[in-house]
Amino acid sequence: MPEPRVVIVGGGHVGLTLALRLQRKMKPGEAKVTVIDTQPHMTYQPFLPEAAAGSLEPRHVVVPLREALRRCEVLTAQVSAIDHATQQLTATLGDGTVERFGYDILVVVPGSISRALPIPGLAEQGVGFKTIGEAIFLRNHVLSRLDIAASTTDERLRRRLLTFVFVGGGYAGIEAMAELESMARYAIRSYPQVSAGDMRWVLVEAMGRIMPEVSPPMSEYTRRRLEERSIEVKLNTTAKSFVDGHAVLSDGDEFDTDTVVWTAGVKPHPMLEDSDLPRDAKGRLECTAKLQVRGTHNVFSAGDCAAVPDLTSSDPDALCSPSAQHAVRQAKVLADNLLAMLRGGPLVNYKHKYAGSVAGLGLFQGAAEVYGIKLKGLPAWMLHRTYHLAKMPTASHKARILGDWLLELPFRRQVVALGELHDPRAEFVKAANTRGLPKPHGHAV
Ligand SMILES: Cc1cc2nc3c(=O)[nH]c(=O)nc-3n(C[C@H](O)[C@H](O)[C@H](O)COP(=O)(O)OP(=O)(O)OC[C@H]3O[C@@H](n4cnc5c(N)ncnc54)[C@H](O)[C@@H]3O)c2cc1C
Repeated sequence: MPEPRVVIVGGGHVGLTLALRLQRKMKPGEAKVTVIDTQPHMTYQPFLPEAAAGSLEPRHVVVPLREALRRCEVLTAQVSAIDHATQQLTATLGDGTVERFGYDILVVVPGSISRALPIPGLAEQGVGFKTIGEAIFLRNHVLSRLDIAASTTDERLRRRLLTFVFVGGGYAGIEAMAELESMARYAIRSYPQVSAGDMRWVLVEAMGRIMPEVSPPMSEYTRRRLEERSIEVKLNTTAKSFVDGHAVLSDGDEFDTDTVVWTAGVKPHPMLEDSDLPRDAKGRLECTAKLQVRGTHNVFSAGDCAAVPDLTSSDPDALCSPSAQHAVRQAKVLADNLLAMLRGGPLVNYKHKYAGSVAGLGLFQGAAEVYGIKLKGLPAWMLHRTYHLAKMPTASHKARILGDWLLELPFRRQVVALGELHDPRAEFVKAANTRGLPKPHGHAV
């Protein structure tokens, strides 16, 4: 009998954890595992704020799939459709060709994307905070705003350059803003023309509090800590417009800004729209507690794109929240259930009580609430680093991250904008044109 083909769509928190466990536990010939991801790497998203702030080297917070998954087939391609009726999926490969793949068992784990709203100017001015590219961009962007502000004599432009707006006060947004503000505050030591008071950092949150993942007292503590750093936390406030970089907020405040970071939640990946699998009102795949997609026996899902019942809640309709904490634990149960299915054994339910949150708020500052225990300041920051270091996949990545942190102690952070990264051919195009050579064409600059 040919070995069954297991296809995993998405090599993120769920996909990588699942594939690592399968390749460790599977017997030779038991199944052929293919992981398809648009990127050749998994991104450890909880470390994105530290990568943006320069505490971590960006390459160290991504795990190359081919290196980690030596017993799996890894394909860099974008899955665009799933036709479960014929057990086929459609994917676009790197060279643009479209292929159809068959499967015996399918795992659909493409995660989520930023949930943007139709606010005028947002698409033109805003940037999300979910990918390594966005983290690198924001680091260079913030530092280059300092570079330009330090040399301009135009007061209006200077105010615009030094105004940074984040929309969305969940832990991802709070961590991203706090880390970048901490980096900018550190960087201005090298800019005699810019003082901390010249910068304006504004957090816009539609709800009455930030970080809904922790209890109200911890949320209030975090807000106070941010405000002590002169970060403006605007609660019960929404963004109305960002046309031409002019921010208009619902509390009547209006100002110009060059930086709008959108961290106001996530929605399931839109690739699920082109599938015949059942989805709930929010677009998540409807799953059972065994992580099977409802109405199927050989399709599994988990993580941000899946509606998985939360069996620890007294509310029968409660679902697991989109978090790495659930994603990684679900991946382990999913791997065991998948192996049980291949071996004809019983499948088990996923049941995990959300332990709480740990958030880094910049160097030596944090807020954490785990199993009801609240930690603040340095202990919380240390717990944040220890926890995520322990969860980071592969020993070599743990070592690299630890190395980054240790090197930071004697040498401090390196704060320099590498804006050229975003337009690498500009210099050569200029040189080629000066010499009268034909303009290069082909790749977009
Ligand atoms: C800045 C930030 C900080 C965070 N901090 C924390 C934290 O401290 N604690 C916590 O618990 N959670 C945290 N999270 C949330 C956590 O990272 C997510 O819940 C988790 O990544 C979800 O895992 P996933 O596998 O479902 O999705 P992902 O990890 O996003 O993986 C999805 C994968 O699917 C791939 N993919 C997408 N579309 C396709 C396609 N069409 N074809 C092929 N592949 C595709 C993507 O490239 C990606 O690799 C944070 C998130 C962010 C953005």
